[in-house]
Amino acid sequence: MMQVFMPLNFLGFVYREMKGAMTNIENMFALMAAKPKVADSETAGELRVPEGEIVFRDVCFGYSASRDIVRGVSFRVPARQKVALVGSSGAGKSTLFKLLFRFYDVSSGDITIDGQSVRSVTQSSLRRHIGVVPQDTVLFNTSIFENVRYGRIEASDDEVWEAIRLAYLTDFIAELPDKEHTLVGERGLKLSGGEKQRVSIARALLKQPPIMVFDEATSSLDSHSEKVILQAIRDISHQQTTLVIAHRLSTIMDADRIIVLENGRVAEQGSHGELLARRGLYAHLWDVQQHEQGDHSPAP
Ligand code: ATP
Repeated sequence: MMQVFMPLNFLGFVYREMKGAMTNIENMFALMAAKPKVADSETAGELRVPEGEIVFRDVCFGYSASRDIVRGVSFRVPARQKVALVGSSGAGKSTLFKLLFRFYDVSSGDITIDGQSVRSVTQSSLRRHIGVVPQDTVLFNTSIFENVRYGRIEASDDEVWEAIRLAYLTDFIAELPDKEHTLVGERGLKLSGGEKQRVSIARALLKQPPIMVFDEATSSLDSHSEKVILQAIRDISHQQTTLVIAHRLSTIMDADRIIVLENGRVAEQGSHGELLARRGLYAHLWDVQQHEQGDHSPAP
């Protein structure tokens, strides 16, 4: 992990080394969150993702034998659809992400991508097919342009510009003192949470994985940043299977399916409208968040 914080005159070297070895800087999010606890099986093959369907089937897991964190979770993310995971803090949302990445093995049940168990494929191929937009993006002390290029180091300048456009960063970059050459990161311009997340989205767009996972920032973004990020996510989620951890329900109203987790179990699932009509946990969370935002009308 120390490499992440090394001085970035080191960058040229990192670039050359990473070209062959590391395909996805965003995976640092996962490396920071969890040290790999599992090894590839001897017969592990390469994951193939022609469609991008994800299935969690009766998944159970605990970080220790004495406490179950995920208790029989089942849901399906159809190819190219957008599914959101919601639930109170500690419900197990991030843990499901870690299991999908296979940072831990399920204790029972299975997680499959296009019918292949994540346990039967190499971890490198698994992570190559999944793009991550983490809550907090690591920025390197180099230009904003090169920061975006980390998504796919061999990308052409035109491809980087296209990712910048799709992540709604073009106007932002046009206003920077040195445009795309502006240095960012610890020793350059400090970006806001929303701007950093857009860099992360641009990196993910450049990578073009068939599956995208977003961990929505908990810190409240200003409403302009939130709008552009949501639009960028919407644009992506038409082409890719998208799994989002959402804290603000207003951001995932358009999801094809919302999975409501409570204490490691699926309490409810359905569309926003279906869940409101049930008047259950989701409708309660919705009412609470509407009140927090100053809208005192109850859910319809
Ligand atoms: P939040 O919305 O606050 O991020 P979450 O729904 O993502 O919460 P998880 O991070 O999945 O919840 O955590 C579920 C439970 O697992 C919590 O009780 C947490 O303390 C526990 N937990 C998470 N990571 C670990 C770990 N590495 N070791 C032991 N327990 C952990």
